[in-house]
This record gives sequence, structure tokens and C-alpha cells, in this order.
Amino acid sequence: KSFQDLGLPPLLLKGVVMMRYNKPSKIQERALPLLLSNPPRNMIAQSQSGTGKTAAFVLNMISRVIPTVETTQCICLCPSRELARQNVDIVKSMGKYLDYLTVDLAVPGTMEGNALQKKQIVVGTPGRIFELARKKKLDLSKLQVLVLDEADNMLESGGMGPTSLRIKNLVPASTQIVLFSATFPDEVAKFADKFCPNANTLRL
Ligand code: AMP
Repeated sequence: KSFQDLGLPPLLLKGVVMMRYNKPSKIQERALPLLLSNPPRNMIAQSQSGTGKTAAFVLNMISRVIPTVETTQCICLCPSRELARQNVDIVKSMGKYLDYLTVDLAVPGTMEGNALQKKQIVVGTPGRIFELARKKKLDLSKLQVLVLDEADNMLESGGMGPTSLRIKNLVPASTQIVLFSATFPDEVAKFADKFCPNANTLRL
């Protein structure tokens, strides 16, 4: 299988080629057809870091953005500011040739104007994203995709789990929920099934 076979928009494919991704990694090859199918299905995917999971969920997010809609359509929650920054850069690189595409970072210390409401993809930490949503600086009413990167961290009951859940409770019922993690310890796995019901599951 090649990236061409996955039905990605041609200009998105060009971004992938420019990043020198010649062919999909195993997780990409298995996850992308499931992620991209319609109607959207939730996904819980376990894959070691370094296997290419970021591109899998980033390609799905970018593909699902409706170009003419200027509100936030995808959110990616990350456990650290650094990871959020890296993921924004990957969205920018892959989406480089899609001239409509807007993406921004939402972590402590970033701007709090009304600009985020018009960003199609927002990547950030859960505390900051929830705060912005509560203050109506972020509009979640048209959200298509909610990704949790390093979901084991994001769903920890003593950690970011409660905030992730608060965010999930603000998004439309139709939002596609996508969890990617290197591990799903038992306690997290139970929470993940509730957080992300009726999901396709992948384990590599
Ligand atoms: P990740 O597991 O998402 O952190 O990705 C690990 C590394 O693999 C990153 O440096 C990516 O740029 C690279 N990578 C991901 N997918 C591919 C691919 N299909 N072809 C070549 N490199 C890739």
C-alpha cells in the first residue's frame, strides 16, 4: 500500500511526499483506512513511539477539515507543551500546500485573543484548552475530531484524565474520538473504553 492509495487530498499528499515519507509505516497503513472511513468511527490505537503514529492522526485531522469552515474542527490534546509544539509543526509541514489550512498552539502562555476561534486545527494541553473553551475563546460546537496523543498520560485519573473528560463533554456527540498511546495499562484501558466508545482498536 502507498499513501496514494489512501484517498488523501492531492495537495496533502504533496506535503507527505515533501517530508520524504515514501510509504506508510505499519501503523499508518492499518490505522489510516479505519480513521478516514465514513461515517467516522472512534479509534483506540496502541503503538510504540517511533512507529509513525503522529502522521496517522495528523493526516486524519487535516483530511477531515472542511476548507470553507473557519471554526475549530480538530483538537489534539497533548500531555506537554513540547509535544504540542512538535505536533503543530508536523501539521504545518504536512498541510503546507493546503492554503486554506489554519492551525495554532494552545498551551499556557500563548495568546488568548479571539483568533483561536478561527483556527481549524488547535493543538494544546488539556488545562489550557479547557480554560479557553470555558471562556468562549475556543468554539467546540463544530468539532469533527478530538485526538488524545499519549493517551495513557491524558487519561490518568490522578493526572489529566478529569480535564480531558471535561473537554470531551463539551464536544458534539458526533465528534470522532481518537486515542493513540504506546501503552494502555489496565486502569487506563477501562477509562479509554468509556471515553472512546465503539472504537476500532489496533494493537501493534
Ligand atoms: P512518531 O512515531 O510519530 O513519533 O514518528 C517517528 C519518526 O518517524 C518521525 O521522525 C517521523 O518523521 C518518521 N516517520 C513517520 N512516518 C514515516 C513514514 N511513513 N516514512 C518515513 N518516516 C516516517
